[in-house]
Amino acid sequence: MKRTYKFRLHPTGKQVRALERTLNLCRILYNCALLDRREHHRKTGQGLTYNRQAAQLVRDKEAHLILVEVHSQVLQDVLRRVDRAFDNFFRRLSTGARKPGYPRFKGEGRYDSITYPQQPGFRITAEGRLYLSKIGHIKIKLHRPIQGEIKTCTVRRQAGKWYACIAAEIGGAPPAIPIRSAVGVDRNIINLATLSDGRVIENPRQLRGMEKRLALFQRRASRKKPGSRNRKKANARVARQHAKVADKRRGHAHKVSRFLVDTYDLIVFEDLLIPNMVRNGHLAKHIHDAGWGMLARFASYKAEEAGKAVLRVEPRGTTSDCSGCGKSVPKQLGDRLHRCPACGLEVDRDVNAARNILTRGLRLLNTAGTAGIHAWGDPASTVGDASLRQAGSLNQEAPSVRAG
Ligand SMILES: [Zn+2]
Repeated sequence: MKRTYKFRLHPTGKQVRALERTLNLCRILYNCALLDRREHHRKTGQGLTYNRQAAQLVRDKEAHLILVEVHSQVLQDVLRRVDRAFDNFFRRLSTGARKPGYPRFKGEGRYDSITYPQQPGFRITAEGRLYLSKIGHIKIKLHRPIQGEIKTCTVRRQAGKWYACIAAEIGGAPPAIPIRSAVGVDRNIINLATLSDGRVIENPRQLRGMEKRLALFQRRASRKKPGSRNRKKANARVARQHAKVADKRRGHAHKVSRFLVDTYDLIVFEDLLIPNMVRNGHLAKHIHDAGWGMLARFASYKAEEAGKAVLRVEPRGTTSDCSGCGKSVPKQLGDRLHRCPACGLEVDRDVNAARNILTRGLRLLNTAGTAGIHAWGDPASTVGDASLRQAGSLNQEAPSVRAG
């Protein structure tokens, strides 16, 4: 199992220039390799393979000494990217996609990452720096330890900042542990999530402020004249704020997913590949989706490491169905309470949904052996910066879990 760590880099001015030059050389190689494939196909009706292009690269390096400035494996990785782009294109073509998307040339400034596919082309030095062959020793903020065997390093330019994404192999998952506690997680509109045991996971207050600022910057940018200097400046500000929001959200998603995996043996999410809400272009919603996706993803890999389980279930009907008796109880958007006329259950709307999600997860599991699951335990009050709180005082008497 592979895991990727993202670290901020603080290159010197000279290193930035070297990185940018490398990006540009890689971009040119990418475009040339793309063109070669296109021409070859036009003349012969056949494709070019990675191996043939890699052999050509060796000859090109003799003719164009400038290529020697870039680590050879980084150059080979550029060719692999071209190869993948064509593979994807042909796959889309074979599935009859309406817009298969022929691989495109990368314009200036549109090529933002390079990959060192193996050590010792790069390494973390004893002094805690990132050594990149042909670039130098770069200051790196290793804010958490890397577990497992380091495999690849991708250096990325994002909104004017530099990052290293280091992938490590952490070996097979440890043997599964028995499930003693399980939880359903309902994504909701106001907070990040509501759990089936009544806990509410909120986004940090600070994040909401940052998002508001982002929306404000975006509105301002959209009012500037397209192509103008002011528009460019405003767009840069939007990008910087966007990166800040993303950082904060990532940190929070790590904290919450850690809490979930430490607290529960089985965590059930809604499967968002099945669209259950009307998609719209609203910014806040888009950002919210991004945070939610991260939470589920981080919980999945943390659970895998800990030998715990994450399941995804069909989200349709989780809000309307009664978690007590299964009867469908339609709701308006503003109805905060689930009130079942059939069995009399009264519970917070989101808690009801979360319990349905949990029930579906348990049904997915082989029900044998899950009868003793302690599913709706006593909620703890806070985690971290008050990110969790109990959902109101609605119906704290949780029914026991029925297996099957
Ligand atoms: Zn009911």
